[in-house]
Amino acid sequence: MRCLERSLTHRLEMSDLGSILVTGKRDPANAARDAHDLGSVIEPIYTSTTFARDENHELHVRSRSGKSVCYSRPDNPTVATCEEILCALEDGADCALVSSGMAAVNAVLEGVVGGGGDERCVLAPTRGYFAVRAFLKEWCASRRVNLIEYDPDYPYVAYGAENERLVVDCPENTPKNGHNAGVSIYNCMYNAAHYGKRISLIWIESPANPTWDVVDLRRVVQTARELGHGCICVDSTVMTPCLVKPLTLGCDIVMHSATKYINGHGDVVAGALVTREKNENWRKILHVRQLGGAVLGSFDAYLLLRGMRTLDLRVERQSESALWLARSMQESDMFNGFDVLYIGLPSHLQHDVARRLFQEGLYGGMLSIVLLPEWLQGQWDAKGRRGRVGLGDLVSFCKLVATRSTVWTCATSLGGFESLIEHRYSVECAPGEQNPHVPAGLLRLSVGLENKEDLLLGLEKGVLAALDSI
Ligand code: PLP
Repeated sequence: MRCLERSLTHRLEMSDLGSILVTGKRDPANAARDAHDLGSVIEPIYTSTTFARDENHELHVRSRSGKSVCYSRPDNPTVATCEEILCALEDGADCALVSSGMAAVNAVLEGVVGGGGDERCVLAPTRGYFAVRAFLKEWCASRRVNLIEYDPDYPYVAYGAENERLVVDCPENTPKNGHNAGVSIYNCMYNAAHYGKRISLIWIESPANPTWDVVDLRRVVQTARELGHGCICVDSTVMTPCLVKPLTLGCDIVMHSATKYINGHGDVVAGALVTREKNENWRKILHVRQLGGAVLGSFDAYLLLRGMRTLDLRVERQSESALWLARSMQESDMFNGFDVLYIGLPSHLQHDVARRLFQEGLYGGMLSIVLLPEWLQGQWDAKGRRGRVGLGDLVSFCKLVATRSTVWTCATSLGGFESLIEHRYSVECAPGEQNPHVPAGLLRLSVGLENKEDLLLGLEKGVLAALDSI
């Protein structure tokens, strides 16, 4: 009998992502535990901002994890259900949902770094989602926090202002341009330790949007622990817990723009934080959320929950389609004017790191293609056009591909069921910027759930339409 109990207990500790996404950590047999005991199978939307106390001033409404609920800013049962599932997916100790991905970044900065002394130090990448990078810079500057920037991809492929491809193999520690290129995350950690500085927060975005640099999380954890540095926070928006779980590798906090894959339906803006330990940093992060007030509403939490149920199915399909598209474009004459940046391709400089991290053989649904100026020049020459292809020509050609591709929508954001394409240089960089952090010829592709052959055909139409315009 005991044996049977033990095996049942073991079986109820679900490890399969699909099962966690559908049932959370609860046993479906006990589903009748909503506040009114109606046995509702679908999580109700608790719109109430407040919850009644009894004659002893005690609270009775509890979230599914047993947390008592008092007021909907710190705790709402619909939000809590969503948090419990995300926490289980990431193998974390606790989860906090906030009103956007940027609110999550803010909560980590305020909670982990804010309030410290003058010697505070943050380590952040030179490439990655531009609003996070801009915010990290502004936040650190306004609070006199020392921001050290590392190159997330070393050795790396860089693209100069004219989009020429530079394969750089410089010794670590030799900044080659304004982006501290060539200084690896490890070197930054060693340098800081050498000068007696403890890094309070190590910020990682992997793969980094939109060039998809991958960071070896295991090696970062090992080095940071060896040198006594602080909190490692990973923006895992693009990886999702379906592909990599940074907390199981020893990272401290995982952050998501839940607006993207977690929701997957383009109708909610939300952020998520999951912690490996309920420690002092986490307590301060929850405090920032509670008093700063950037919480998620119950309607949004409901939509997020609904979107999340199919996360693993979507990510699997999107990863398979992205790999197929990347390979097809690499082999197709139509795309021989483009570099294909996809971490699932052996040609990606960090494919080996990715292969060790992404153990299921799935590499996610994000990739980029980078137009090569020499190819465009060849097309110009063939059509008898005079002159050299310049930055403006690259930009115009890419914008045409983005807007003329069928099936793909030219729009910001990523990770939804619909495929999106965008020319990130036009969105992120000042016109004519020297040393742009995004190659001028880069088109970012977020692969959705459409048929993969249709997606390829749609892109081919975009390239043909752009070629027609030359
Ligand atoms: N992190 C990454 C990698 C992102 O792509 C984004 C948004 O695009 C964010 C953070 C910010 O998230 P949100 O737009 O939900 O505030």
